[in-house]
Amino acid sequence: MFSLINQMESGIMTKTGISRRNAMKLGGALPALIALPAAAQTAAPAAAAEGKAHTIKLGNFQVSTLLGGTNMREKPIETFGLNADPSEWALLSEANFLPAEKAGNSFTMTLVKTPEALAIFDTGMVPDVTVAALAAAGYAPGDVTHVILTHMHGDHISGLTKDGAPVFPNATLIAPKAEAEYWAANPGDPYKTHVAPLIDKATLIEDRAEVLPGIHAIAAPGHTPGHMTYLLESDGARLMITADSFNHYVYSVQRPEWHVRFDVDKDMGSETRKKVLARLAEERIPFVGYHMPYPALGYIAPGDGEGHFRYVPATYQFAG
Ligand SMILES: [Zn+2]
Repeated sequence: MFSLINQMESGIMTKTGISRRNAMKLGGALPALIALPAAAQTAAPAAAAEGKAHTIKLGNFQVSTLLGGTNMREKPIETFGLNADPSEWALLSEANFLPAEKAGNSFTMTLVKTPEALAIFDTGMVPDVTVAALAAAGYAPGDVTHVILTHMHGDHISGLTKDGAPVFPNATLIAPKAEAEYWAANPGDPYKTHVAPLIDKATLIEDRAEVLPGIHAIAAPGHTPGHMTYLLESDGARLMITADSFNHYVYSVQRPEWHVRFDVDKDMGSETRKKVLARLAEERIPFVGYHMPYPALGYIAPGDGEGHFRYVPATYQFAG
């Protein structure tokens, strides 16, 4: 249901908002809900219009994944398998019950409530959708104390400002220093619109910085020069925010050697991807990935060969 409602009209780097056409399609899909209890029939569309959040407990932290939208793209081999052999691509797709010719993607921010702070990691594509998802988690934009960026691609920074004003008026912006320097030297429109007005007051951080008590930055360059992951630890429980280290739950996890179109340095992106995946698998650390299937929370297990892995979605591991 939510993928229909939140489906974006076109590419991920654009700021299109929720498409009216897809909202109409949803209207057409409603009769399919007739078998559900009456409450579910009304709850599903209402909840989506109000945003979507999924909350777990992690030690003394509360972690919510916030849905910022979904999209579908054609010819995904040109995004996730630049150097893939087309027949291997087709086989891997089939083995995973996926169409080889199109791929879906989610955009998922992470909200972390610690004893000291309320931090949002990345900000989505559309401010109103971000704020709606935040509301679904039980918070208003003014409650957020820290906005922490993983990198500065448009789909991660476009919820920072709306009509020139900060969406999170009380928050300190924390950003990777190398990332800020790269985009200041190579500014694109999303950077100019959403980051440039705020960056002078931002706290710029480097690898291994403790950004908040229990939250450490771990550099993961390649996707972008300053791309950063974050390791949360509370009361012995850990979780990694992997951002865009791997961006498709099958192609980039089972074949991390495949080059990704959005990686600024494709070889480094691949090397970093393998390292991040290997650590998650070896240490059995749960993670949130920005583009994993919503709620974007899962684990990484060894795959079908050396340097290959597989994605295991989380289910009830965090329940009570
Ligand atoms: Zn992204």
